[in-house]
Amino acid sequence: MQPNIVILGSFVVDLMGRAHHLPKPGETVKGSMFKLGPGGKGSNQGVAANRAGANVTMVTKIGNDLFGKVATDFFEKEGMDTSYVFQDKEIETGTALILVDENTSQNSILVTSGACGNIKNEEILKCEDKIKEAKVFLTQLETNLDAVEFAIDIAKKNNITTVLNPAPIQPISDELLSKIDIITPNEVEASILTGVEIKDMDDARKSADIFIEKGVTNVIITMGNQGAYVRCKDEERIIPRYNVDAIDTTGAGDAFNGGFVTALGEGKGIFEAAKFGNAVGALSVTKIGTAPAMPTRETINNFII
Ligand code: ATP
Repeated sequence: MQPNIVILGSFVVDLMGRAHHLPKPGETVKGSMFKLGPGGKGSNQGVAANRAGANVTMVTKIGNDLFGKVATDFFEKEGMDTSYVFQDKEIETGTALILVDENTSQNSILVTSGACGNIKNEEILKCEDKIKEAKVFLTQLETNLDAVEFAIDIAKKNNITTVLNPAPIQPISDELLSKIDIITPNEVEASILTGVEIKDMDDARKSADIFIEKGVTNVIITMGNQGAYVRCKDEERIIPRYNVDAIDTTGAGDAFNGGFVTALGEGKGIFEAAKFGNAVGALSVTKIGTAPAMPTRETINNFII
């Protein structure tokens, strides 16, 4: 049975150009390659969950423009419900301008959230019935915070499990934290939100203690190739990473979150679901890109055996 998952999050078009060096202020550099594709944490996590086997409803906002069509075409191709992809009449679809130095792999990125930073409460209200039917509600911090808070209130009111991936990092109130069933920061985000510098799993434990004091029920800190630290009220486990040849680690966190909520929605416990998330994260780093690197359920099942 495919679990219903509602994901409120961003959609931006990634515009990526490569050149032999990054342009300095005022300089024009001839590029060697350009690529356009779907991006944004919400969208990436939606694709990861959808491919992992969830029935995903994406709640996001696009502009009335060409890039908005990139979003709807992409979601439809992936077989995702687009009934709650809202359209802004004035603001353009979000974009990420990514410049990559092909010699050093360093990049400069300029992200504009555009329409997905202007999601209205009345639009969230239109999704209330979908949220009520969901096994899990997942969101991040790339859309406007008031929409995130409003949607979490609706999910909470209806006893739906709330998962917050607090990325990109920004201050969040203790009141919001107290409404989160499971928070899933990476180690950098957890460090900033709790003030505990995290290098190893002992540090992760200290950071999780602070999240729990602030009222979060469960904490998962993803630690890149160290795997994930998982903490429920009275129990903790370190879920080891899967060994793979990593080629491109961008989007590993999005892959983890999409996989994790899918497994949780299927009824797996938090530790088992984090193990599934680790598998999806590991598989995603074996391929280049974010959304295109998300594995299908068949690939995940063959990998886990
Ligand atoms: P990003 O910001 O690059 O999208 P992130 O920092 O949010 O990623 P990570 O903690 O790096 O997220 O990765 C999420 C999960 O993916 C990890 O907990 C781990 O299970 C898996 N993972 C990441 N990197 C590797 C790796 N090199 N090998 C195996 N698994 C990995």
